[in-house]
Amino acid sequence: MEKIDSVVIGAGVIGLAVARCLAQTGREILILEAAENFGSGISSRNSEVIHAGLHYPVDSLKTLLCVRGRGMLYAYCAERGIAHRRCGKLIVAAHAGQLDRLDAMAAHARSAGVDDLERLGRSEALRLEPALECLAALYSPSTGIVDSHALMLALLGDAERAGAVLALKSPVLGGEVTATGILLEIGGSEPAQLLANNVFLCAGLGAQPLARALRGLPRESVPPLSYAKGNYFALAGRAPFSHLIYPLPEAAGLGVHLTLDLSGQARFGPDVEWIEHIDYRVDPRRSDSFYAAIRSYWPALPDAALVPAYAGIRPKPNAPGAAACDFMIQGKARHGVAGLVCCYGIESPGLTSALALADYAVALCQGG
Ligand SMILES: Cc1cc2nc3c(=O)[nH]c(=O)nc-3n(C[C@H](O)[C@H](O)[C@H](O)COP(=O)(O)OP(=O)(O)OC[C@H]3O[C@@H](n4cnc5c(N)ncnc54)[C@H](O)[C@@H]3O)c2cc1C
Repeated sequence: MEKIDSVVIGAGVIGLAVARCLAQTGREILILEAAENFGSGISSRNSEVIHAGLHYPVDSLKTLLCVRGRGMLYAYCAERGIAHRRCGKLIVAAHAGQLDRLDAMAAHARSAGVDDLERLGRSEALRLEPALECLAALYSPSTGIVDSHALMLALLGDAERAGAVLALKSPVLGGEVTATGILLEIGGSEPAQLLANNVFLCAGLGAQPLARALRGLPRESVPPLSYAKGNYFALAGRAPFSHLIYPLPEAAGLGVHLTLDLSGQARFGPDVEWIEHIDYRVDPRRSDSFYAAIRSYWPALPDAALVPAYAGIRPKPNAPGAAACDFMIQGKARHGVAGLVCCYGIESPGLTSALALADYAVALCQGG
């Protein structure tokens, strides 16, 4: 049977960042990806926002890796010529009842290490965005947008130049923890078995099902998995905004916000729809709630301006409807298996955090 030093399962932004990080330390790496292409999972169905890191609990991995990862990501984009823009974002209080929450968010952000927020009154906010309606806003200058596919292409290029190999159409079906390594059963047109010293499970929505198929990995270490779909609607025509606009966050998401792509085209979302099976279709009827939410900060949104665009699915590592929880990155200390790192619940801000998360996962593996 073939033996290899390290296997990364999943070629989304997380697996590619981990593979790059490992390959640059001189390890032998194989990336196993079930799909026909890299980056076709959660990493291609998101808002492409480089988050500042102000929305998560202070002591969480989300805050730590987002704040660190954001700096690393801007530097990497500049170094590698990856299209991105530090466009900034406004978080708006639409009515007087939200002013306290806005101030609490500013205080929370400072304690999370995000110290560049500016509190704007109504007229200052409208000077930045004349079409906006709000009572006050927080301005985050370090929020931006990035071309996520160009980012993944650059990560893959770095990993391959350092010797990593990507195998597409190679789903990992299961495996077993043995005394000599982790045995992986690979499907596809040429089924095979592979023994690896180190395995990084970066399989997004496939992480929990695969972890449950790894014999010898304690079942109780594998968290539940719920799907929180996020639907997006595109704006027909140009939006009169140059910053990202966010309402105050909701329980399971950040609220129906306005993001821009690098060409300036606006889209709205994602909302939160708990689903039982993976389904990326966008129901046009959901636009009703979008109109109401968007008009709280952009009253002039024309009728019939929203067009169903696409959807992504958040891999929530808890029960449907439960409160947001942290990234779960488990090494030997958590599950008892040397050489295995499992990434669960890598929802937003996973794209922003990818480079820092990769360093963290590799260090966790090396530390046992
Ligand atoms: C609606 C939405 C909006 C978001 N917006 C943002 C944002 O604006 N900014 C931000 O920072 N983050 C955002 N995120 C989060 C970010 O997109 C994710 O954290 C990130 O893309 C996760 O990457 P991943 O590599 O873990 O997963 P994926 O990209 O899904 O990659 C996992 C890969 O594993 C493969 N795979 C699965 N099972 C197997 C198997 N058994 N064998 C082999 N391969 C397998 C899959 O085919 C897939 O390619 C958003 C997420 C969602 C859902």
